[in-house]
Amino acid sequence: MSQLQPTICIVGSGPSGCYLAQFLIKQWPEAQISIVDRLDHPYGLALYGVAPDHHGTRAVTKQFDRLWSNPNVQFVPNVEVGVDVSLAELQANFDIVVLATGLHQDRKLSIEGDGLPGVVGAGRVTRLINGHPNETADDFSIGQNLLIVGQGNVAIDIVRLTLTSPDKLHGIGVPANIIEAIHSTPIRRISIVGRSTCSQAKFDVAMVRELANLTNVSFSASGLASVSKGDASDPKEAAIHDLVANSLAGAQRNVDFYFGWQPTAIAGSAEVSRVTFSNISRPEETLIFDTDTVITAIGFEESDDASIRRNQLKDSNSNIDVGLLSAGLYCVGWFRRGPKGTIPANRVDAKMVSDSITQDFQNRDDLGFKKGRQAIKQLHSASKS
Ligand SMILES: Cc1cc2nc3c(=O)[nH]c(=O)nc-3n(C[C@H](O)[C@H](O)[C@H](O)COP(=O)(O)OP(=O)(O)OC[C@H]3O[C@@H](n4cnc5c(N)ncnc54)[C@H](O)[C@@H]3O)c2cc1C
Repeated sequence: MSQLQPTICIVGSGPSGCYLAQFLIKQWPEAQISIVDRLDHPYGLALYGVAPDHHGTRAVTKQFDRLWSNPNVQFVPNVEVGVDVSLAELQANFDIVVLATGLHQDRKLSIEGDGLPGVVGAGRVTRLINGHPNETADDFSIGQNLLIVGQGNVAIDIVRLTLTSPDKLHGIGVPANIIEAIHSTPIRRISIVGRSTCSQAKFDVAMVRELANLTNVSFSASGLASVSKGDASDPKEAAIHDLVANSLAGAQRNVDFYFGWQPTAIAGSAEVSRVTFSNISRPEETLIFDTDTVITAIGFEESDDASIRRNQLKDSNSNIDVGLLSAGLYCVGWFRRGPKGTIPANRVDAKMVSDSITQDFQNRDDLGFKKGRQAIKQLHSASKS
């Protein structure tokens, strides 16, 4: 390893950017690492995606906080790369630039009516619940008949959080206007509909079991492969059976799971009023839901207006499998491998990309001569003047 220490810029301070900084500073203790983010606060989806009642998951941010006590690591807030400074400018001023910008836009259903008022993405809802500074609540409210499309953990987060009492939401820091938007019309029914069979649904068993703590809620499920818990060989089916079997009689709020349906059309005049699904195995069979609010929870994709696009940065030397985009330019986390995986998966990813970077920069005698963080200040203030 060269004695010379590189100047490094990591763009994005979510889990992947922070884990990467931890690994790189171990390899090069004297390196100068700048972590740039468009927001004024670090940690990305660990703060603005993860549910605010999941304190254990969020605790990872405490571990990342330790980065800032290292004088060689600096957080640079409020700089959007591609807008306030260009990627080319960063590359000219740092030996190594790593993109850790994630993927935030809710994946669209891409069916008729998906742009109607009352149809909203789960990513946006969780940003609002978490007080994301760039998200506006303007047209957001939840009616009494909520339909959730998708059955992953984010969908289950939405079920739990929208059925949590205003006092509890307040206690976990949900902004007052969002509590009002969720509770001004009390939710009576949540239908949560997915394409997969229950055993292949994306939710974790623990997430479904946690729903049993909700008060005044009864559960039902259709499309299960087994009739009762005794018949269920699959742990997800068993968890759903438990939830249904332990439901409170006379509860005023219902959560109904439907497995094996995909949406085909959303209808409404001024706003959403009806969604039609067709059965995955028997496409001629349809299911129609009358609803006033649809939350789509079917994953994430590159933003329509993204200022940095991974595929446009690839060249003939790229090797995305190890995070290499082009000489000195790397990617990590959701931006590298797509919007899949939990926070710990980004640690594994960051370790792999850190190893790939340190291997590429072994025995180099031209490191540390670029301006580094001083340049960002100058470039940023030039762009604002
Ligand atoms: C709603 C939701 C709930 C989740 N809940 C959990 C959970 O409970 N447990 C769990 O383990 N995982 C959870 N995840 C997954 C987890 O959040 C991701 O695995 C992780 O955040 C991905 O990390 P990342 O660093 O790649 O991206 P991100 O966390 O998205 O970080 C990207 C960062 O880049 C910044 N950025 C973007 N563009 C620019 C730019 N042009 N210039 C400067 N900065 C930029 C962003 O502001 C952000 O800070 C959840 C995800 C979502 C969406």
